[in-house]
Amino acid sequence: MENTIVIFTINKTASASLTDVRTGKIWHCLAPQVRCWNVAEERVRELHSQSFLVERTVSSDTFWQFTFLAPKEGISFRIEYSLNGSMLEVSIPVSSIKENCQYFPLLSITPLPGFGAVSTGEPGYMLLPNYSGVICRFDKDISLTHSNMIYMQQSQWEDFADLPVFGVCHKNSAFLGIVTSGEFDTEIVTELNRGPERQNCIYPRLHFRYGKADEIDNVDRRICYHLLSDADADYAGMARTYRNYLLQAKNLQPLRNRIPKQPPLTNYDSYGFIKIFCAGRSPQADGQGTMHTTTTFAEVQKILQAIKDAGIEKASVILVGWNQEGHDGKYPTRLPAEPRLGGDEGLKRLVDFTKELGYQITFHDNYADGYQTSPDFAEADVITDRDGWPIRAGIWGGGTSYIMCPSQMLQFAEKDLPRTKSMGLNGKYYLDGTVQPPRICYDKRHGHPATRRAYCEGVKNIARLARRTFGGCEIEN
Ligand SMILES: [Zn+2]
Repeated sequence: MENTIVIFTINKTASASLTDVRTGKIWHCLAPQVRCWNVAEERVRELHSQSFLVERTVSSDTFWQFTFLAPKEGISFRIEYSLNGSMLEVSIPVSSIKENCQYFPLLSITPLPGFGAVSTGEPGYMLLPNYSGVICRFDKDISLTHSNMIYMQQSQWEDFADLPVFGVCHKNSAFLGIVTSGEFDTEIVTELNRGPERQNCIYPRLHFRYGKADEIDNVDRRICYHLLSDADADYAGMARTYRNYLLQAKNLQPLRNRIPKQPPLTNYDSYGFIKIFCAGRSPQADGQGTMHTTTTFAEVQKILQAIKDAGIEKASVILVGWNQEGHDGKYPTRLPAEPRLGGDEGLKRLVDFTKELGYQITFHDNYADGYQTSPDFAEADVITDRDGWPIRAGIWGGGTSYIMCPSQMLQFAEKDLPRTKSMGLNGKYYLDGTVQPPRICYDKRHGHPATRRAYCEGVKNIARLARRTFGGCEIEN
């Protein structure tokens, strides 16, 4: 199928190519690859094009639907391809996935493996989804395959794969892939120097299960390939394409549009930023490390007055360790404010004083960690992994930290966010560490699906509540 910008073809073995008519560039890819669990052999089985009966079941000028059936394994699904201007959209409707044999539960589908491969030594680069975007040029000598789950996994925290995008730039052509649905279970695979042609490529693998007994997240999988040419064929063009997607499809608003409606965001525009640490324990597994009081609420007042006297007219103040037992003290318990610092009354006085200076003030808080020293801690609220273990993280001020399930923490947020707001805070709220690498919580008592997406939706609910309560919310990780 084709339009004036793009020609898309699929051959009999189900490998495909996408031509950018503007530059003549042809992006090739291999046939879809599927992994399932072989119950009898207790190992992964890989299915390639010869394993499938492939049939085009719907065809129009801009839309093709192909049905893939692996008769031996009893797995079938549809892949839908549609053209829209310079974009190819590739979808797998979750409702199309059928498993007719108990011996081969589906694990993953890679719809366009090796898409856009470029040989080593050629000009250009791949865009990787790490940090705020990383480029990898075609000049590496080693041969390897590296993968990152979108939105990270704890075992790869150093990689910080934080974006649902990937791409390739070659000469005067480029593409940006955006995973627009099912991104929480999508892995971005990067290959360097693959095969005798030393090819480099980057493409998504769509996971449906991580273990044979997992439930499939009931969401369609979709990737949009945006072809870019000439002046747009670089990482800046990719960034503009992603920005336009966020503005148009996700309806995100730039800060300059939000500030008039959300006054606490004003500080992004013109305020200085002051973070003051009040108290905390030395990290120790039992949570009984030495308590250090560094700045009482009364001392914070003196500091802020001195800053004001020095001529700083606008400032946004964040207090860290104001809560019970200081920084990372006793979550999910936070109130009343730490008495050694001045307690609730001292904190309210500080808030009023700060606002009289014309400053913003808010708190550094946390709805992810939990500590056994807290009277509100319940192991039943912790994320439970597939082995039935409560997820543990680092050792911080409160002792060994447990990663709490956001669906359980929402009730604490509903109770405590209004209480902290009632102290008079006029800044946006600051949530420390509240976005963790998505983990599947297998605790059925929590009432959410056992999916990575459920974790992210839980965090979003807490963030939305903080935004509604305070007029803005920042999340740290
Ligand atoms: Zn849970």
